[in-house]
Amino acid sequence: MKAEVDAAKCQGHARCWEICPEVFALDEEGFGSVVDPEVPVELEAKAREAADNCPERAIVLA
Ligand code: SF4
Repeated sequence: MKAEVDAAKCQGHARCWEICPEVFALDEEGFGSVVDPEVPVELEAKAREAADNCPERAIVLA
């Protein structure tokens, strides 16, 4: 699975990072990004939970 943060939608709530820091990181201003766009199978459920909890629906999983 691949993960991406849509920078145009992200408002910096940091929920992605709180839920799944293995996949999501925050920049100096608190906006989300991905540590590695390729999500390992064992982290897929956590990455999905983070995406479901993003208030801006800024996380794209494919
Ligand atoms: S939870 Fe969503 S809005 Fe918040 S930092 Fe992560 S991607 Fe951005």
